Order: sequence, then structure tokens, then C-alpha cells
Amino acid sequence: MTFAIVKSEKEYSPRDRLIAGLAPGRRSGRLPGGHIDDRAALRKAISLCSDCLPKFNREAYDYTGKPNLPLVRGRCDGCMAYSPHMRLLVHHSLVSNM
Ligand SMILES: [Zn+2]
Repeated sequence: MTFAIVKSEKEYSPRDRLIAGLAPGRRSGRLPGGHIDDRAALRKAISLCSDCLPKFNREAYDYTGKPNLPLVRGRCDGCMAYSPHMRLLVHHSLVSNM
């Protein structure tokens, strides 16, 4: 039995692999509302900092917070700044009712 081991010519460190998996986020010149509209249309999770959270009408997009995950940290989908206290919003259809 042979295994398909794909080796690239460049050796990746664990740090390189993590950076390669990082979502590119909003590209420069793109307005934050358009970026979040696209994520909402695809029912992707949206994380927003405390400044950007009031600007997103979650009822209009049928989004809700996750009660078991009150805070997340990372890059805000609105202002692209790192925040250790963001709210994670997910589409209603993706929340389990347990
Ligand atoms: Zn923000």
C-alpha cells in the first residue's frame, strides 16, 4: 500500500501552515458593509468588536449570538482590528436548539 504524500519544495513550519490557513479578510479598498453582506449571504460566522457590533442589524440578516460562546478573540470583520473581546454571530439555521 502506498500513501500519497505531497511534498512541496518548500518546507513549512507549523507557523507557516497556520498563516497559510488564515482567512484573507476584507481586501483593501473594500467597504466593511460589503464584506459583511457577503459573509451574511453565505451564512458564514461573523465576529464583530464592540464598536462594530451596533452597526450590524442582526435581525435583518437572521443572525444571532451564541449563548455558550459569549466572547471570541481575533480580527473584527468590520474594522479588521484585533480585539480580544468580540461577539461571534451565526445564522439562525446553524444554531442547535439543545
Ligand atoms: Zn470592528
